[in-house]
Amino acid sequence: MDEILEKMKIFDENFAEIKDNIATAAKKSGRKAEDITLLAATKTVPAEVINYAFSKGLTHMGENRVQEYFEKLPHLTASLEQRHFIGHLQTNKVAKLVGTVSMIQSVGSERLAEEISKRSLEKGIVTPVLLEVNIGLEQSKSGAAPETIVSLAEKCGQLKGIKVEGLMAIPPIEEQNDKMREIFSNIYQLYIDIRDKKIDNIMMNTLSMGMSSDYELAIEEGATMVRVGSSLFGKRIYK
Ligand SMILES: *Cc1c(COP(=O)(O)O)cnc(C)c1O
Repeated sequence: MDEILEKMKIFDENFAEIKDNIATAAKKSGRKAEDITLLAATKTVPAEVINYAFSKGLTHMGENRVQEYFEKLPHLTASLEQRHFIGHLQTNKVAKLVGTVSMIQSVGSERLAEEISKRSLEKGIVTPVLLEVNIGLEQSKSGAAPETIVSLAEKCGQLKGIKVEGLMAIPPIEEQNDKMREIFSNIYQLYIDIRDKKIDNIMMNTLSMGMSSDYELAIEEGATMVRVGSSLFGKRIYK
């Protein structure tokens, strides 16, 4: 079967079940299904398949690479509000990206925050962002260490071209559920701590954590948004 049709079929088989699982996990944490946003992580997924998913009720997508995103963008039916950026972002790509997505979820440094703010102001807009926290991934370059996230938030609060709306995390995938649950719980605690500090111009309304293998756990521990790729579209085919 051709790759496009195959991925559409996989989406049809999985979408309803994932939405059910999200509703169940939301209930376990005392919330409603509508309180959780399912964002499809669409790296390597062809535009036709993404459009098909939106025609079936998907509401949010997130892309990882600026170049891949711009190749797909002219073919996408998703509105600006429905498109997020979730990948590692180099400062030299910021000018191009700003204004083409409704949120940049992967802001892990002051330098990147400043560049997004500057380029947004040049375009006369304010870009909603999430601060990316690096928990448990020692080798990873992306994301800010938990100890530095409050000071990053305070600095971001002074930048006029961005609006911090919450946190995003890509924790390492642990074999044991207990360990994974503990990591999600720690991230949630950090989110609450920052919210309680009531830092100027900083909102904590979105906690983006949980992927294909652990989105239910993440919701049980307080995620408001999950980013699911392979469970929606099947294994990624890198070309
Ligand atoms: C690819 C990706 C995901 C989704 O991963 P799956 O395990 O396929 O669900 C989520 N978040 C980010 C930042 C990603 O790059």
